[in-house]
Amino acid sequence: MAFVALLALSGCATNAKASTQPTPAQTPVVTPSWSSPSASPSPTASPAKPTHPAYKSLDWYLARVPEFPPAPPVPELTEAPAAGTPPFWLRVPTDQKVAFITIDDGALARPADVPAFIREAHIPVTMFLNSPAATEHTDYFKQIEAVGGVVENHTINHPSLRGMSYAAQHHEICGSADKLQQLFGKRATLFRPPFGDHDDTTLAVAHECGAKAVLYWSATVNEGIVRYQTPIKLLQPGDVLLMHFRPALMDDLLGALKAIHKAGLTPALLEDYVTPPPPPTADGEPLLPGVPR
Ligand SMILES: [Zn+2]
Repeated sequence: MAFVALLALSGCATNAKASTQPTPAQTPVVTPSWSSPSASPSPTASPAKPTHPAYKSLDWYLARVPEFPPAPPVPELTEAPAAGTPPFWLRVPTDQKVAFITIDDGALARPADVPAFIREAHIPVTMFLNSPAATEHTDYFKQIEAVGGVVENHTINHPSLRGMSYAAQHHEICGSADKLQQLFGKRATLFRPPFGDHDDTTLAVAHECGAKAVLYWSATVNEGIVRYQTPIKLLQPGDVLLMHFRPALMDDLLGALKAIHKAGLTPALLEDYVTPPPPPTADGEPLLPGVPR
């Protein structure tokens, strides 16, 4: 039962075209463009969608989202270390055919259609936010959170942490975690150091501030173009795609989805793969089969 519940909670059925049901709490602003005119319930419904949506309109992007196979079941979760430093991952250690979309920063730009795109196309995203941007634009990020996005920690001032003192790193990492918790009501469980720059102090402090894993990335997306970190110009299972809250974020999301599809993968939610397992049940059995206690 718990496993089923987790599956339901993980939410993001990423089959982009299989489900056209809006999230209950959301007003369906847009009818997905893949709804054919013949599927319209009645002629009195809202005006038919244009056959050819305007270039780079929300419908234009939605019409280009590839169709994914169903996401694999949420795996046995990686157990977080009880003590010591969290792992530093370029890609998530999984054999499952999934890849992860992460969006960083938050101050530069917040394209208006992104929350609806994420909702309509069921795109699982993790947002590594700088706390001042999260403070200034909380409503925007809460819109993404409401459709399944997860807020994580990316420091206050976006410095290169490597070589900074313990006190300075603690201020940047825990200070941001505290603020994000205040804004969004939950503690960040993942941390991404700006520029990926880090040292042993960074990992130790991230652990103290609540991080279960520290994330780098294995591919970047900018202006819709995917750039790979390896000679194999194809995403691999567990790859983590980095993009930013920039003006071209719609293009970046679409570019990421196309690259994930091209590799035979399905987008999945990062947190489903690094969250520590639930506590054992009263009879001592773990809630998920195979998860070590
Ligand atoms: Zn950044």
